[in-house]
Amino acid sequence: MDTMTLQNIMTALQEDRIEAFFQPLFEIWGGECTGIEILVRIISSEKNIILPESFITALENSSVTLSVTERLMNKTAYTLSVLHSILPSNFTVAFNICADLLNNPELKRICNDFQQKTPSNITLCLELTERKPFHHDREEEVNILTLRQMGVKIVLDDFGTGHSNMSLLTYAIDGLKIPKAFIAFDEKMSIQHIIEKNMVMLAKEMDIDITAEGVETLNQYNRLKDLGINYFQGYLFSQPLSIHVLSEYLRRNNVIFTKKTS
Ligand code: C2E
Ligand code: CA
Repeated sequence: MDTMTLQNIMTALQEDRIEAFFQPLFEIWGGECTGIEILVRIISSEKNIILPESFITALENSSVTLSVTERLMNKTAYTLSVLHSILPSNFTVAFNICADLLNNPELKRICNDFQQKTPSNITLCLELTERKPFHHDREEEVNILTLRQMGVKIVLDDFGTGHSNMSLLTYAIDGLKIPKAFIAFDEKMSIQHIIEKNMVMLAKEMDIDITAEGVETLNQYNRLKDLGINYFQGYLFSQPLSIHVLSEYLRRNNVIFTKKTS
């Protein structure tokens, strides 16, 4: 894996080579697609797709992360406005952000711009990644509250794999995502399964949504469904899709939406 420098990322931004990929979320197997997660990609000058593992550290350690997220939001808003007629009545669109961006005063402006540009049946969601430490202060709490008052959902991503801290759970949040590192474990009674079970109990007690990500097999899906998980994401359902494939995918799924509502 080649690591990209900040200069490479800035050049990609200037040359419009930052792209949004979309991974669908589902409520149940074979059911409606209830939303998408936006995953950043850089397209190299040779037209290869570069994954976040090559540049996410450099990106999140820089101030460019705001511009990259704004670019992804603009591209996604445009895509959704084109697809608007085939989206279901409630559709969630999630972006990944780290603690530094959460505490950047410009975040509210780009979220507000996104909301203005997208139809009202779309709910903006921010997934807070744990790669960078949170501040755990009053200002951070107020930032989360203000975003929620704007109608933005706040979800804790990859919970338990990075700078987790129980005080994050005292913030008013809308959901938790169980990381694939726990889900990938197929051994019964492993510590990963115990944690998984406790995360579901915690979400139920807190009355918030819980999403399982990185679901790859039917065995995993059935185990997680039996635990009472609401939402699923992973290769079993769909890989992250380019914009062209997403349009096709949602049009095909629209058959299900139409059938369900008629
Ligand atoms: P994440 O938020 O945990 O996103 C899920 C990652 O798991 C994605 O990797 C996705 O492609 C991959 N994935 C999804 N389903 C499966 C599955 O069934 N099996 C396996 N093995 N993997 C699966 P990706 O796209 O490489 O993204 C990696 C991380 O980069 C993301 O992890 C997220 O934390 C971060 N990231 C992505 N886009 C952005 C962004 O725009 N901003 C920031 N700050 N971080 C981002
Ligand atoms: Ca995520």
